[in-house]
Amino acid sequence: MYREQSLNEICDGRMYTENDMVRTDTGNCAGCRQVCCKGMERSIVLDPYDVHRLTISLNTTFDQLLKGPVEINIVDGIMLPNLAMNKDTDACSFLDSSNKCTIHDARPGVCRLFPLGRYWEDDTHYKYIFQKDQCHKENLSKIKVKKWINNPADPGYDQFIKDWHRYIVRIRKAVYDIQSEGYDDKIHADVMGAESLNIQNKKETQIRTICMYTLKTFYLTPFVDDKDFFGQIGHRISDALHVMGMD
Ligand code: SF4
Ligand code: SF4
Repeated sequence: MYREQSLNEICDGRMYTENDMVRTDTGNCAGCRQVCCKGMERSIVLDPYDVHRLTISLNTTFDQLLKGPVEINIVDGIMLPNLAMNKDTDACSFLDSSNKCTIHDARPGVCRLFPLGRYWEDDTHYKYIFQKDQCHKENLSKIKVKKWINNPADPGYDQFIKDWHRYIVRIRKAVYDIQSEGYDDKIHADVMGAESLNIQNKKETQIRTICMYTLKTFYLTPFVDDKDFFGQIGHRISDALHVMGMD
């Protein structure tokens, strides 16, 4: 089952565009004793661009990240990577002893937005929201949303955010349908080959196939040219939706 949250549960009810002013500027978090990079459990889910930026910035691989600061968990039915909390401190592994983020320039999109978040009105349109009760600092200053979110200058980023959201929505729905309805031979045959259909638990295997295919296609397989990330991921998303019969 995947979650549906109402707007009033997660924010003050207002929605913002990039050109709106919003009271969200934390002033570099100066003087805040409630560091929010602790105790986040599995909530900082990483998209492929987050992982790509981390691998470039830290000169490492996704496999290596999985040995420390990143882990894979099931989020609303599908396997996705998230920032792992340090077992001793319950803080993000990238938080240093003076409560500074050691990967500030390559921090994930969720961190760049915080305490703003995205609210999806449908598969392809979103607005920004100020997340209720998340930042504990008082008297936040007003700032233009566009300045706060500091998105990459590449216009491909916004398209990627929409394409990735659409992909996740599609596979989440496919997993939900498999769990609640029945088995779809076509997806499994297209991705794994018809010979692997002779399995005991077809539903579980099909869900695992979708998850593993997603991890392999978007996280484990590196992108060859850093400058063309958005072009490459656009093709990968289209191909994946086509292969799984969801386009
Ligand atoms: S990546 Fe940086 S900003 Fe994000 S949770 Fe970790 S320490 Fe905090
Ligand atoms: S609670 Fe707000 S001010 Fe404090 S560290 Fe988090 S974002 Fe910064």
